[in-house]
Amino acid sequence: MSVIYERVALIGLGLIASSMFWAMKRGGLAGHVTGYARSEATRDTARRIGLCDRVVDSAEAAVKDADLVVLAVPVGVMGALAEAIAPHLKPGATVIDVGSVKQTVIDEVGPHIPEGVHFVPCHPMAGTEHSGPESGFESLFDNRWCLVVPSEGSDEDAVLRVRAYWRALGSNTEVMEPGHHDLVCAVVSHVPHLIAYTMVGVADDLRRVSDQEVIKFSAAGFRDFTRIAASDPTMWRDVFLTNKEATLEILGRFTEELFALQRAIRTGDGEQLHAYFTHTRAIRRGIL
Ligand code: NAD
Repeated sequence: MSVIYERVALIGLGLIASSMFWAMKRGGLAGHVTGYARSEATRDTARRIGLCDRVVDSAEAAVKDADLVVLAVPVGVMGALAEAIAPHLKPGATVIDVGSVKQTVIDEVGPHIPEGVHFVPCHPMAGTEHSGPESGFESLFDNRWCLVVPSEGSDEDAVLRVRAYWRALGSNTEVMEPGHHDLVCAVVSHVPHLIAYTMVGVADDLRRVSDQEVIKFSAAGFRDFTRIAASDPTMWRDVFLTNKEATLEILGRFTEELFALQRAIRTGDGEQLHAYFTHTRAIRRGIL
């Protein structure tokens, strides 16, 4: 493959940014990659493991001269970060973010992007429960989807190039409207994380079942189901605070279904339970 952006700046050196770096390296997609993260310990780790061609001590220094700037920090700090780097962006550069929520990011980052710089919001639908600079790997984006959420006035060439970049990283791309994106992600990602966190909390709260028993006997359901409850608390706090409406809508629907099943269990309605599980099993089996 060939270079898509000559100079790339990665801001935030966690799971997503580090995976982007290794995937860029694998494909030879960038001439030079500069990295920055807020914490000195993260920058030191990045230097030690060779994450980025150069790691600098400020976001402003990282974006200077960059053709592509990637905002890969928790959603709650995207706006302040955009404000800080805005005066240092190169005319003609493209800024993308990889945040899990899109409407809030667009509202908070968009106004800071200077005239002549292109902003193309993105969300790679790929992740693990691990975080930090050492958690990334080159194949994270392979055969996954990246949702691209341009605004009406977005420069078409800039959007096409961003899509080509994600394809070169290994992903398919689809363009989506921000409100719809946030609802889709509430269903397929955000609420499932909330429920996983809750299940661990419930297990911990039970007095008649010890934490040791939970750990010892969680071979099947609990272990599979709660893997994502090990995910980064800052990232997920920000997701729920910024995707409030869609999360509450899906959570409301989830509670209704749960109450219906609770009632079926209480009244001994095996027919309802069987029909429900047959229906949902057919849907789940369609997901590879
Ligand atoms: P992470 O916790 O692994 O890394 C975040 C990095 O950002 C850390 O290095 C942290 O030091 C740095 N950081 C925090 N505040 C900063 C600031 N103000 N300035 C500079 N650096 C700062 O997180 P991640 O999983 O890589 O997530 C990054 C973004 O990608 C988030 O917006 C998240 O919503 C999104 N995302 C995550 C996943 C996932 O499954 N983890 C999937 C898709 C998208």
